[in-house]
Amino acid sequence: MLFHSLNHQSKAVSFKEATILGQAPDKGLYFPERIPKLSASFIRDIEKYSNEEIAMEVIRPYVSDDLSEDELLRIVTETVNFPIPLVSITEGISSLELFHGPTLAFKDIGARFMSRCLGAFVKDRAEKVTVLVATSGDTGGAVANGFYDVPGVEVVILYPSGKVSPVQEKQLTAMGKNIKALEVEGSFDDCQRMVKQAFTDVELNKKLFLTSANSINVARWLPQQFYYFFAWKQWNDKGNPPVICVPSGNFGNICAALLAHISGLPAKHFIAACNANDTIPRYLETALYQPSTAVATLSNAMDVAEPSNFIRILEIFQQQLPALKNRMSSTSITDEQTLDTIRKTYSKRHYLLDPHGAVGFISLEQYLDKHPHDNGYIVETAHPVKFPEAIRLATGMEVPIPDSLKSLLQQPKKSELIPASYPVLAEILSNI
Ligand SMILES: *Cc1c(COP(=O)(O)O)cnc(C)c1O
Repeated sequence: MLFHSLNHQSKAVSFKEATILGQAPDKGLYFPERIPKLSASFIRDIEKYSNEEIAMEVIRPYVSDDLSEDELLRIVTETVNFPIPLVSITEGISSLELFHGPTLAFKDIGARFMSRCLGAFVKDRAEKVTVLVATSGDTGGAVANGFYDVPGVEVVILYPSGKVSPVQEKQLTAMGKNIKALEVEGSFDDCQRMVKQAFTDVELNKKLFLTSANSINVARWLPQQFYYFFAWKQWNDKGNPPVICVPSGNFGNICAALLAHISGLPAKHFIAACNANDTIPRYLETALYQPSTAVATLSNAMDVAEPSNFIRILEIFQQQLPALKNRMSSTSITDEQTLDTIRKTYSKRHYLLDPHGAVGFISLEQYLDKHPHDNGYIVETAHPVKFPEAIRLATGMEVPIPDSLKSLLQQPKKSELIPASYPVLAEILSNI
């Protein structure tokens, strides 16, 4: 399988090259030359397959021969080695819990897969690879955890100062070793802008081999399809496929869901649930792409004004906006609605949502009100303990801290505070 750049100026490359490069030389996102179709029997008999077998079936066409069958199986097995249950909240709404991995957020899956692929691909290189990543919250922790101590790989993480939760901050600053955390005095969009500038800096790229671990990397994006098939395996009413609602920021996760759908994943409809950062809901309504600046919300991992993966979604639908709108709608939910949903779902259903899941829950509830014969699930992207302030505001209670987090929270924060200025970042990268 080859991957071509969506800017159409660079040559098509293999999965291995796309993983190492992150972004195409023409700054486009890589996209597969064709979308594989899974067999009807695989979809029908999915309950007979283990999660590892499902993941292999989904990812193998993309990876081709770049990894041996044994190596790919090892990577896939290590990627999905925690529970991903589909839990019922109400009669119509379930929650696909993606927060049982090491950093308690769904990004563990993409980050674990990517770090292991990259580790395998750079094993025999003389030159070190530097992974540069901007995070609005959870990417940093998942990437730090996934790449910790991987030989030949240095990791530099930029995060907006004061805009990630204390647990998130510890997850990306406490590791040390080959993981360097930069605390940027600015927004996530500033961090993302600085990272993009580093990739276009010709002088810098002569000195070091830079790659990205953001959701634009195909090795992070593609494995996110796995759990939609795990959900289908657990879906009881196979005659009535689910409405799938994905809390969205950079739109990588929903983009993986849509890709899975084109490959054969049954679904009635998709909802990209956004917070006050409503660039895409407005775009779908008006057909005018007018990104605003990012605003801070309680669901901070979705505080993105210019979702980088949206261009891939347009490509999946061959730039046909009506076809896209037919499959996917997008909502914008306020912080007040988010808190209200956390409170109500906890008191009525005894289910504690995190703010991102809450944005999803209310969006799905609104949709099902209008489509009473449908059922669906939200993708619960993070554990509520990562957002104690929102939970306190909504319910007045403290989320008990899991043991795995207690020791982490006691470790010192190791980060460097820098202004939102590209020259400062360039200087730091030059000295790595
Ligand atoms: C990253 C993240 C999101 C948004 O995912 P995208 O793929 O960027 O749309 C949602 N919720 C949580 C908890 C996240 O960490």
